[in-house]
Amino acid sequence: MVVNKFVLRFSSALVDQPVIYHLVKDYDLVINILKADINPHQEGYVVLELSGDSENYNRGLEYLKNTGVDISPLSGTIFWNKDRCLQCGACTSFCPTGALKMDQKKLVDFDGSKCIVCESCLDVCMARAVEVCF
Ligand code: SF4
Ligand code: SF4
Repeated sequence: MVVNKFVLRFSSALVDQPVIYHLVKDYDLVINILKADINPHQEGYVVLELSGDSENYNRGLEYLKNTGVDISPLSGTIFWNKDRCLQCGACTSFCPTGALKMDQKKLVDFDGSKCIVCESCLDVCMARAVEVCF
């Protein structure tokens, strides 16, 4: 039995495809969806735990890659260092889940419960206020 967590990012062209259905039906995998934001005709993501016997697991991953879905392992946690943050707001444009966002006072804030550890903010932050911890 293999168990791992992944972030799947769907382009707007793929978001309507029954990808999860095929993982369950064709590859006999157990899917535990931890977080998701999927809307018709828009880019979306699903954070899930995937488990199954190793052969099916590997075949399922191969299927996912062939569909064109962007798949990355979920590892580590994001640490936002408020004291280092310059409040430039650059990261908020790249954060797909709103984990880093401007509050009503136009100050950047971080909500770890929304973070999918996609690491998009890491390259953007020149102040190195965002770090990934393993
Ligand atoms: S990019 Fe870095 S410095 Fe700018 S708001 Fe985001 S965390 Fe703060
Ligand atoms: S890693 Fe950064 S960009 Fe990605 S969801 Fe978390 S806070 Fe947002």
